[in-house]
Amino acid sequence: MNNSSAPPQFILNGQNYHRIGSLLPEHGSKPKFAQLYIYDTENEMSNRVKHFRSNTKESVIDESLVADLIQMIDNHNVLAKSFRRVRDLSLEHMELDFTLRLFRGRNKDPRVYNTPSCDEIVALIVAFIPLQYPLMFPYGEDGYQEDIPIRESHSRTKSRVRIRISLRKFIAFRIQQRSVEAGNIVNACRLFQQFLVDCYTMVEAQRLSFIIANQKLIRCDILNGLQEAVNRGETDPSLIGRRIILPASFTGGTRYMFNNCQDAMTVCKKFGYPDLFITITCNVNWSEIREFVLAKGLSASDRPDIVYGESKLKNSTDIDKVISTELPNANLYPKLEKVVSSYMIHGPCGPARYNSPCMKEGRCSKFYPKKFTSSTSIDEEGYPCYRRLDNGRFVEKNGIKLDNRSVVPYNPPLLMRYLSPCEAAWRIFAFDIHHRWPPVQRLTFHLPGQQSALFKDDDDINVVFNRYENANTMFLA
Ligand SMILES: [Zn+2]
Repeated sequence: MNNSSAPPQFILNGQNYHRIGSLLPEHGSKPKFAQLYIYDTENEMSNRVKHFRSNTKESVIDESLVADLIQMIDNHNVLAKSFRRVRDLSLEHMELDFTLRLFRGRNKDPRVYNTPSCDEIVALIVAFIPLQYPLMFPYGEDGYQEDIPIRESHSRTKSRVRIRISLRKFIAFRIQQRSVEAGNIVNACRLFQQFLVDCYTMVEAQRLSFIIANQKLIRCDILNGLQEAVNRGETDPSLIGRRIILPASFTGGTRYMFNNCQDAMTVCKKFGYPDLFITITCNVNWSEIREFVLAKGLSASDRPDIVYGESKLKNSTDIDKVISTELPNANLYPKLEKVVSSYMIHGPCGPARYNSPCMKEGRCSKFYPKKFTSSTSIDEEGYPCYRRLDNGRFVEKNGIKLDNRSVVPYNPPLLMRYLSPCEAAWRIFAFDIHHRWPPVQRLTFHLPGQQSALFKDDDDINVVFNRYENANTMFLA
C-alpha cells in the first residue's frame, strides 16, 4: 500500500493505547525503544541501526548521524538522562533493587525527582508525547497535561467555561509553523503524519471519556435541547452492556451525521435535488504549496496541515470506488469481511422472517433483498443503483443464507474508522466538517404525552414522570 506515489498510509484499529513496556528486553530478544538507553549500551549503535537496516541500498543508515543524535539526546533530553541514570545505577549497584517511577504532572514536590541519587527510586516528569517522539521534543519538553490554565486574556470571552487547555488546543499550538522555531515537529515528514493521526486519536479518546463520565448531563441535554429531530441511534448492537449515548454535538458521530443529513434533505425538499455535486481537490502542484515544501526539502504529503486532499465522485465508476454493496473477499480482507457480515447485512426479512422490524404490510419497507446487478448506475431520479454481483458469496444469519442482495451500502475505510493525516490535521485545527446554507431549524413534534423521555436505569420512575408532565416542549401535534 505504501509503495506507490500515493500518500503513505497506516491504519489503526479500535482504541489507540500506548504502553511503555518492560525496561529490560525479554530473554533472548533485542533491546528496543526505551530499553536501548539501558540495556547493552556498549553496542547501542548497532542495536539501534539493526531495527532499521533493510536490504536496499538507498536505505543505508548514516552511523555518524546516529552517533550525533545519541549524543544530542544524551546531552539535552531530560527523559533520556533519567533512563541513562537507571543504566548507571544498575551497573554500579548490581545488588540494588530499584524502580523507575514515571510522574504524570508537575504538581509534585520537585525535590523528589530533581535528586534521583543512588537511591531506590529514579523518577521523572512525564507525558506520553515527548517519550514517544524524542526527535520532535529533543529537550524532553512537557507534553500535554490536564492542568494547563488558559491565559486570562483568552478566557474572558462571553460564555466560556473552560479554564484549562484542552488536548486539541495544545496540539494545535504545537503544530504551528513559526519563524522562531526550527520546526522539528512540522518538518518531520512521515513521522509528522504519524504524530497527527496519533494525537487526533488521543483527542477523540479524551472527548469520549468525557462523554462516558458525563452521561447524566448528556441525557438531560437531549431532553431539554430540542435540537434533535429524531431520537434514535441508541440501539447500536455493538454497545451491549452499558449503553453510552453520544450527544448530537459529538462531531462526526452518528447523531451528528444523521441530523446534518436530515438538514440536507430539508434543503433538498425546498429547492429540489442538487444540480451539481462538486468536491474541491487540493492541487499539490499549486505554486504556493510547491515552493513552500520544496524550500524545506519535503513533499506535499509531508505537510497534511497545509494540504487537504479530497476525492471526486462524478460517475458510477467513482461511486464503486467509494461505496460498496457486496461482501468483501474474506481471504483478502478478513477484518472488513467480518465487520460487513456483522453490521452491514439487512435481514433476514420477508418470507424468512415476517416479524422483522422492517416488515410493513407483508413486505420489506427497505426493499431488501435487492436485485443482482452487474454494474452501478444512476436512475432518472438521481438515486444510485449499486453493483451487486452474483458471485456466490454469502453469510448465514439465523440459518438463512444472505448474499450480496442483502448488503447495506458501506464505505470500507469509514467502516474501519479510517483517519488520514489530512483529516487529523483538519480536526486538530477544529475546522468544520460541514457547512450548510440556508439555515435549517430543527423542530420536534409529538402527540400529547408522547414526548421522548430519557432516564437512567436507576432513576425513580415517579421523578421522571413529574419531570416531563409539566415540562414545555416545542410543538404538540
Ligand atoms: Zn427488510
